Amino acid sequence: MQYINIANEGIKSLSPYQAGKPIEELERELGITNIVKLASNENPFGFPESAKKAIQAQLDNLTRYPDANGFELKQAISQKFGVQPNQITLGNGSNDLLELFAHTFAGEKDEIIYSQYAFIVYPLVTKAINAVAREIPAKDWGHDLDGFLKAINDKTKLIYIANPNNPTGNFLTEAEVDNFLNQVPERVLVVLDEAYTEFTDAKERLDSFELLQKYPNLIISRSLSKAYGLAGLRIGYAVSNPEVADLLNRVRQPFNCNVLALVSAVAVMKDDAFVAKVAENNRTEMARYEAFCQQHGLEYIPSKGNFITINFKRPAQPIYDALLREGVIVRPIAGYGMPNHLRVSIGLPHENDKFFTALLKVLG
Ligand SMILES: *Cc1c(COP(=O)(O)O)cnc(C)c1O
Repeated sequence: MQYINIANEGIKSLSPYQAGKPIEELERELGITNIVKLASNENPFGFPESAKKAIQAQLDNLTRYPDANGFELKQAISQKFGVQPNQITLGNGSNDLLELFAHTFAGEKDEIIYSQYAFIVYPLVTKAINAVAREIPAKDWGHDLDGFLKAINDKTKLIYIANPNNPTGNFLTEAEVDNFLNQVPERVLVVLDEAYTEFTDAKERLDSFELLQKYPNLIISRSLSKAYGLAGLRIGYAVSNPEVADLLNRVRQPFNCNVLALVSAVAVMKDDAFVAKVAENNRTEMARYEAFCQQHGLEYIPSKGNFITINFKRPAQPIYDALLREGVIVRPIAGYGMPNHLRVSIGLPHENDKFFTALLKVLG
């Protein structure tokens, strides 16, 4: 029996997600320590103390199911951003939400639009539900929103936009997104995936909750995995109009967010100092990456995220392999159709120094 023959049609064209290489795996393979991992856009400052305290206080409370409505976390999000609790949907990481949007609004033969080089979860979700993928060729590695508009037809149900985008770091301004939303029919839902928004300078950052007032078909997706440092716990949230949120919450698994993730998220939502420190390090270290690339004639895609993607203009896999032997894990993105690029997460100063030294050695 070949079980692939009875799997959902769309699943036949899927390949497993290629995650960043774990530190422990490289330690085992090479027998080395002091490895620096700049591969998964994780928070280089480690797990926030505020969340650690919240977890310790809950350790005796794990016999009970979590609050299925996430009351406390919705309150915290509501207070922080001035949105109503009935606009919020919580997810087991924002990946869970990205999947939920498709399950709720799209089905077989419906069309879903996203960009070439956009976050890999969009094609994954689209194919898993047998929807039709409309992948719009990128413009300068980023979203071609005019191309998106031309692709909209009667079958279009959902549009995914990552801003900033991963793995390219491209950024759309508020005016560009506003102008786009203004031309999208109200019956088409637009997901604005803002997993990296905290890394964008305050004056450039989109006021996306403001856009939500104007566009009822907008769904904003946020993550606590990056700037907030909770990647291992899995927690994210979506903000939409209340009717959309109600539908999402019908489809959502009742206990999709665990007790420790919920209390940690409440703690870091109030920990502005932690997020500010993370964003500040990213700002100064990103400038060092740009200067390094310019100094050594390396082409990179300007990024508003916590990572930078470098174009080596030749297959990057051997460079990735050689960096591993130097104890530095970065991310090959051939799976995104970018075999000449490597994506490097911005780390702490000494981690970035190690990458700079290793790369120069590897490039000779
Ligand atoms: C990292 C990332 C996410 C966040 O994923 P989580 O499931 O919240 O950890 C979402 N979208 C993009 C574009 C990302 O790069």
